[in-house]
Amino acid sequence: MKKLPGIDREFLLSLLQKLLAIPSPTGYTEEIVDYLEGRLAEFPFINYHRTTKGALVANWTGDLKTSLRGLTAHLDTLGAMVKEIKSNGRLKLSQLGGYAWNTIEGEGCTVFASSGEPVRGSILLNKASGHVHAKEVSTTERTAESMEVRLDIVTSSADETRGAGIEVGDFVVFDTRTESNQGFIRSRHLDDKACVACVLAAIQALVGAELQPAQDTVFHFSNYEEVGHGAATGFPEGLKELVAVDMAAVGEGQNSDEFHATLCVKDSGGPYHHRLNQRLRSLADEYEIPHKVDIYPYYGSDGEAFWRAGGDVAVALIGPGVDASHNYERTHIDALIATTKWIMAYLLN
Ligand SMILES: [Zn+2]
Repeated sequence: MKKLPGIDREFLLSLLQKLLAIPSPTGYTEEIVDYLEGRLAEFPFINYHRTTKGALVANWTGDLKTSLRGLTAHLDTLGAMVKEIKSNGRLKLSQLGGYAWNTIEGEGCTVFASSGEPVRGSILLNKASGHVHAKEVSTTERTAESMEVRLDIVTSSADETRGAGIEVGDFVVFDTRTESNQGFIRSRHLDDKACVACVLAAIQALVGAELQPAQDTVFHFSNYEEVGHGAATGFPEGLKELVAVDMAAVGEGQNSDEFHATLCVKDSGGPYHHRLNQRLRSLADEYEIPHKVDIYPYYGSDGEAFWRAGGDVAVALIGPGVDASHNYERTHIDALIATTKWIMAYLLN
């Protein structure tokens, strides 16, 4: 078996916790990009810049320049914007990214008021009380119309809510409820912060072992993935390969699980690049990386975003198994370590 440098689990997990604690719904990612930029600055061999669109792009010089490579992982998450301030002072939401309304029911949230302080609240069915609405609490379909934000301020009118600085278009961030037990990490938005942490842990492990990539490599941290066009731009001319690092879909009928990294060979956008897939499978075998191969039925990646934008490159997708994705997500450290190893194996070969 070929050997890889050791991974600093503490670095990986503490970085993940930190990323999860920074709100970053699509369109509101400056703070997390600032933070990640600071972390990249710890690696002296890596140059980075921000695209006009707001993504963070880093370059690491490799042994060869014959096949420029890219890795992409996304910093943006699901979230919402204020769609309407209702006459009762509560808020209707417009979704950022794709998720079922029931997955955020009962969740605490923060409204980043366009003027004034952030306001806390909770996301509820507008017929929430069992003592008032009886059966309708369970039978009402959860939609943009039937869900609302109850704000933790004294308001019973649109004017009072506006008085707190809240306006249509303000970002709404869901509580992540991050918790770790027995090697499991559960949180909203492991998609895709878990993979961003894996990419940095891989870089850190290689730097620590005084290794560098086999080829010049671009690390692209995207900020518009959840709406489908994150990695459409931001890569230099001459890119030959792009590995998207994003969560694997776990659930009934899926091959993926929370203890392995998965190579996705096909999703809603069709099959990925066969030759690159085969190389990643060989690397996983050579380094004995716990891995699965899977197909995701309802899924698109930033690799495909680049393809759709005209990128003429080989694209593959790997990532850790995440249970209940786009819901209250959970993974296990084993899947994160496997993903980090796979990234390192790819970089080194
Ligand atoms: Zn994702």
